[in-house]
Amino acid sequence: MTRIHLPHSVIVKSPSLLPMHYKVSELAIAIGIPERTLRDWLAAGAPHFRDQHGCLWIHGRDFADWVVGLRKPAKERKLADGEAFCMRCNQPVTMTEVSTHAMQGKLIMIRGKCPNCGCRINRGGRIPTYASNSITWKDAHNEN
Ligand SMILES: [Zn+2]
Repeated sequence: MTRIHLPHSVIVKSPSLLPMHYKVSELAIAIGIPERTLRDWLAAGAPHFRDQHGCLWIHGRDFADWVVGLRKPAKERKLADGEAFCMRCNQPVTMTEVSTHAMQGKLIMIRGKCPNCGCRINRGGRIPTYASNSITWKDAHNEN
């Protein structure tokens, strides 16, 4: 599935979308992104429908809910160093036996073990300038 990175304007503006149907061009303006980007998101699974004339419509509240759903994984990015989300325990845990491995560019792979269930956890991260403070992935991305 296409990975979608939400611009800040979308996160801020989508909660105030109205319970009505927007045209692609209208919604793009309402949430402050290019129409082209919005069309990509529709293709990637954002809620919409096509009328008998072939026009695309997006319901404001459905779209806002979709944005919220996309944001949920963001909690994994706000974990402190040495923490990771254990899928088995279904909660963030402080890893033991932590080791970091250089990946491509600024990315690192953090490996560790869940202290509760002992399963191995791999967590993506960034080099410490990004990872050691509260800057989110999105903020780091915007610096590029
Ligand atoms: Zn666990």
